[in-house]
Amino acid sequence: MEQEMEKERQPVKEESHEPLIQVVDMKKYYPVKGGIITHTTGYVKAVDGVSFSIMPGETLGLVGESGCGKSTIGRQLVGLEKPTAGTVYYKGRDLSSMDKREMRQIRTNLQMVFQDSYSSLNPRKHIYEILAQPMLYHKISSKETVEKDILKILDMVGLSKNMLGRYPHEFSGGQRQRIGIAKALSLNPEFIVCDEPVSALDVSIQAQILNLLKSLQKELHLTLLFVGHGLGAVNYVSDRIAVMYLGKIVEIGEAKEIFRNPAHPYTQALLDAVPIPDPEEDGLGHGLLQGEIGNNTKPPIGCRFHTRCPYAMEACSGNEPGMQEIVEKTAGGHFTACLISPEKREFRAASS
Ligand code: SF4
Repeated sequence: MEQEMEKERQPVKEESHEPLIQVVDMKKYYPVKGGIITHTTGYVKAVDGVSFSIMPGETLGLVGESGCGKSTIGRQLVGLEKPTAGTVYYKGRDLSSMDKREMRQIRTNLQMVFQDSYSSLNPRKHIYEILAQPMLYHKISSKETVEKDILKILDMVGLSKNMLGRYPHEFSGGQRQRIGIAKALSLNPEFIVCDEPVSALDVSIQAQILNLLKSLQKELHLTLLFVGHGLGAVNYVSDRIAVMYLGKIVEIGEAKEIFRNPAHPYTQALLDAVPIPDPEEDGLGHGLLQGEIGNNTKPPIGCRFHTRCPYAMEACSGNEPGMQEIVEKTAGGHFTACLISPEKREFRAASS
């Protein structure tokens, strides 16, 4: 059967009002083994009840410290792992209800760009093989057209055709990340999880990769989940931002709204960590984040952030806050999980 990539990479014209990806109460627990006779002694609750949706053509940024569960969410969304509980919908269809054949077809639409581009590429294969094999296997391209299609993708990511015969170790970190992006694009996806794609790169290269992702997203009308641990880079590429802390989303809203009007003390602390190119300016003045992210085997009872929050009160260690919409000073769609409204918070010294 002749397959044609000649459906080309045309921007999708019609606008949909249904989410492309919808996550409902997702949990992902990993068993902890121990004891003389090995048995499960507990669970690492990497993701503990998370819900959100991503509209077609939208970039959602997912931000938080290492260990908060953001990369785990990415892996569930592209089908690399199955959630312990909850549902992931792709175009309204529950991914867990699909059989192997359906899942294999759907997987081409759901791709991932990894932080460690070197380990995500087979070191024994040159770039032509790395890109051609999945395209032929999934019938995205035919033997006759695959080279032409690969050259087109390389051009899109800013690599030249004389690189086709080279191996991954012959490239710089930035070039390897471009190959990682080309690999994701080669299957003509609708949705890509970009899992900290610039964290391991030099600052000057980071900007190039962020600009590339931004322009590809626009040109191909891609839907992205951009995972990062710094609000600066995440804000640059995202339409909306979700802030995660210890397995939960604590704030979600429009990117500019999160920057202008951060509601959760954790988001405020992350924003204070964003460098400001002005020596006179010392940030928003909420105080830098103290301490380490807690243990997600036994997360703190009540608000998970209360052990580090400079506004914590007695009630914060007793009740777990649910997500509430902020209705004042906002265009809508801005939610946060905090028991105390910003005007009623009393700042305490970080050591208290
Ligand atoms: Fe801080 Fe309490 Fe709000 Fe949690 S609920 S973020 S501890 S003020």
